[in-house]
Amino acid sequence: MSIKFACIEDFYQPHYRLLPFRFSKLDAKRYFISTDYGEWVCLTSEQLSVLVNKKEITDKKLYYELRSKHIIINDEALDPIPLLASKYKTKKAFLENFAQLHIFVLTVRCNNSCIYCQASRKSCQSDSSCFDMSEAVLDSSIDMALSMPSSTLTLEFQGGESTLTMPLVRRAVERVQQKNTAKEIQFVLCTNLCDVNDDDINFLIEHNFSISTSLDGPQSLHNANRKFSKAGAWEALTATLRHIKQKNAFDKVSALMTTTRESLGLHEEIIDEYIRHGFSSIFIRELNPYGFAQKYFNKIGYPTDAFLAFYEKCLDYIIQLNKDGQPFRESYASLIVKKLVTPWATGFVDLQSPCGAGFGVILYNYDGNIYPSDESRMMAETGDQHFNMGNVLTSTRAELFLGPVMQELALAGVNESLPVCSDCAYAPYCGADPVRRYQVTGTPYGRPGKDDFCYKNQNIIKMIIKKLTSGDSQTRHILLQWGLQ
Ligand code: SF4
Ligand code: SF4
Repeated sequence: MSIKFACIEDFYQPHYRLLPFRFSKLDAKRYFISTDYGEWVCLTSEQLSVLVNKKEITDKKLYYELRSKHIIINDEALDPIPLLASKYKTKKAFLENFAQLHIFVLTVRCNNSCIYCQASRKSCQSDSSCFDMSEAVLDSSIDMALSMPSSTLTLEFQGGESTLTMPLVRRAVERVQQKNTAKEIQFVLCTNLCDVNDDDINFLIEHNFSISTSLDGPQSLHNANRKFSKAGAWEALTATLRHIKQKNAFDKVSALMTTTRESLGLHEEIIDEYIRHGFSSIFIRELNPYGFAQKYFNKIGYPTDAFLAFYEKCLDYIIQLNKDGQPFRESYASLIVKKLVTPWATGFVDLQSPCGAGFGVILYNYDGNIYPSDESRMMAETGDQHFNMGNVLTSTRAELFLGPVMQELALAGVNESLPVCSDCAYAPYCGADPVRRYQVTGTPYGRPGKDDFCYKNQNIIKMIIKKLTSGDSQTRHILLQWGLQ
């Protein structure tokens, strides 16, 4: 039996109805149109005017695109709701099993002293009984994480410097091995890699840890930002990286960079440094306003516009490197492209709605207190306990997960219902960050449309959409590849 498809013209009808969408200005000539389920298109102001006035769309290619993206519908079409509901559910799949990322702050002691330390670290000679997690807190925290509904969990150990408490890391792994029956567990260790012995490296490799470290750029920049003994943090870090390479485990290591004022003129040097060490990607991160970074902002900070200009220079340089045959990615852009071109959620908690804080992440502090994110415990270290959810040893589950902190996050962390965000076409690719907004503006609702979270994200999303839609074909191809990886 042969199946015949209707001819494409059969789908064209001058009369149509609108399905829900939002539109926002993209540049002087174009508007960005998006739907809740993540479809999007760019239109000129004339095309947008035709659309919103439901006039006849004579450009048939555009008509078919709008129909296929469920921005318009004609009277004879099948009920689109089941399909759209399924697409929406796929986009929000990260909510299905509650928090998957569980962070354990094993200590706030550290052997580095970084100018922007957001963890308000204490010296490594400080009293470990005051600043390290006790075994009782660790055991209860691991048990709490394992009791979560998700079948896959990421358990991330950090500090301070996590490797100062390797016996606790080993104990945690042992407890997981004893108690976990069915969950898929990924271990992550955040470490400056300045002073890790061979035994500990072997342990991490043996237990398939992902190792997350920090590399701010070339030697002089890294050492200016991050101090470690007389030799310098760069020398110690790169020696450990060489050691891990000798063990053929470099694929387990990823690095984050933090942008300080000194980084702004060094985009090529920073990226070249990553490539020289063999990394395949970089995450260009701005300075976040917590801990020492906030205290010394006058010395090391910069306006958001300066960060955006730096970010674009980095992106253009990386794209050019790819064109010249050097595969390399920028991670933040890759996440946004993935959101734009695939139906999937990214799992990246900083760009989620409902917000990653609490719904995607639970943090167990060394003192047993529980917070919805790393940033909220950083605030607690500087005296603001606004997001303290309770304590792992003394609070009930209802107090922790249905208490006032989670209630507030549920109200302030959904961009679909925030003023301004709810009308913003970039909302499906953006997120909500009540913790940062509270820190910067004094309210978890922030000032969408005006605050720095909005300004930075909206401009980066626009930058990427412009490169995806107006860049040359090689640029578009490279960005698409990043999003599909
Ligand atoms: S940023 Fe990390 S490595 Fe640097 S001082 Fe703070 S805790 Fe230590
Ligand atoms: S924060 Fe700004 S860019 Fe993001 S959804 Fe809200 S209004 Fe849009």
